Amino acid sequence: MIEVDVFIIGAGPSGSISAASLVQDGFSVKVVEKVKFPRFVIGESLLPRCNELLERANMLESLKSGAFQFKGGVAFRNEKDDFVALDFSKNLGQKWGSSFQVKREKLDSLLIDDAISKGADVEFEVEVVAYDESENIISTKELDGTLKLYKAKKVLDASGYGRVLPRLLDLECDSSLPSRRAVFARVDQDERPEGEQNGYIFVDIVGDNEAWIWNIPFSDGTTSVGIVCKEEYFESFNMSDEEFWQHIIYSNHTASKRYKNSKRIVDVGSISGYSAAVKKMFDKNYILTGNASEFLDPVFSSGVTLAFESGAKAAELVIRELRGESINYKEEYEDYMMLGINVFREYVNAWYDGRLQSILFSPKKSDKITKKVISILSGYVWDENNSFVNSPKFALDTTYEVLK
Ligand SMILES: Cc1cc2nc3c(=O)[nH]c(=O)nc-3n(C[C@H](O)[C@H](O)[C@H](O)COP(=O)(O)OP(=O)(O)OC[C@H]3O[C@@H](n4cnc5c(N)ncnc54)[C@H](O)[C@@H]3O)c2cc1C
Repeated sequence: MIEVDVFIIGAGPSGSISAASLVQDGFSVKVVEKVKFPRFVIGESLLPRCNELLERANMLESLKSGAFQFKGGVAFRNEKDDFVALDFSKNLGQKWGSSFQVKREKLDSLLIDDAISKGADVEFEVEVVAYDESENIISTKELDGTLKLYKAKKVLDASGYGRVLPRLLDLECDSSLPSRRAVFARVDQDERPEGEQNGYIFVDIVGDNEAWIWNIPFSDGTTSVGIVCKEEYFESFNMSDEEFWQHIIYSNHTASKRYKNSKRIVDVGSISGYSAAVKKMFDKNYILTGNASEFLDPVFSSGVTLAFESGAKAAELVIRELRGESINYKEEYEDYMMLGINVFREYVNAWYDGRLQSILFSPKKSDKITKKVISILSGYVWDENNSFVNSPKFALDTTYEVLK
């Protein structure tokens, strides 16, 4: 049996920021990662809040060293050609008003390498296969079948879509959101917007809000292009993922122009049923972070931000606990995380029922409203000075009623 202070499952953004934070405070950390890095994972557009969280964890240099595409904002467009571009620097005064578009295979490797250089013990191609919650003992399996046992003071489950502890401990519960599908690929040589919007993420609404397309430009000239829709909408086409991707992109009047001379450079991939929730986010011996806890929806690129936020917060609380403080994880972790998640949830709901688009495209909206929305879409969903954070549903409903 190997003893460690903290055992972390998964080396994605959430696991990396936790590991780096813990080792910098002098605690021993073991991270096991199921696959070999670099590995592909979806989730390529970051929010300004990510920069802030990485800066606090002393990891910003790793992000900067990736020479990633500068992302100054987000633009939305529908088929009626209503258009709005939101410049992240026009926020409510937060320091970080931009972020990056990243290939995750590169970013995630940089971040876990950073955690290793700070002292984390990380092993790849090792899988967590069992967990004894009462004794806090983790069983791992290596590629050759070797089994090992670890005993930890705390376990952080940062296993993302693997959802290791939710599966092993029966913590899964239904998401509040319906099942949707994303169908995606990467292309070369698309026609990008000129000027400052060059590095923006562009979101193109398809039809009467039946689907939307993400356009995420990378610094190497390639672009990620994905479509998100309800499962039933996808099934109604009776097409393969590749046929569907091709059909939607080239029948949308904006996307078809952007990609008319481009070449697809990877196979079309898909993921569905990704919205997930859990019955609880912690217990005495473990904490769930990142996508292993709750994942909402890709539309506002909130996933990595929430993964960093929860990974950093979990590490901060564990450090305090291991130093002898008594921690109220319900208040300081779960309630805190749910506050931000629920702000994004209201925006996701308002996106799919059309209220948010109506607000975004309204020529009547004031600069003040725009700044509040920009701040939220930048990931500042814990900013109590923003009235749209404190009561998101009320703010969205009343703003929609006034502007419609
Ligand atoms: C269609 C779609 C588009 C998205 N777009 C965006 C976007 O633009 N921006 C954004 O911020 N987010 C986006 N997301 C969300 C983003 O993918 C996730 O929120 C993010 O990757 C979560 O990070 P994580 O560290 O929690 O988990 P992950 O990045 O999934 O990392 C978890 C790691 O755990 C490892 N693991 C799994 N099981 C085990 C095991 N048994 N033992 C050991 N290791 C294990 C995995 O191999 C993996 O490397 C998108 C999601 C979807 C579905």
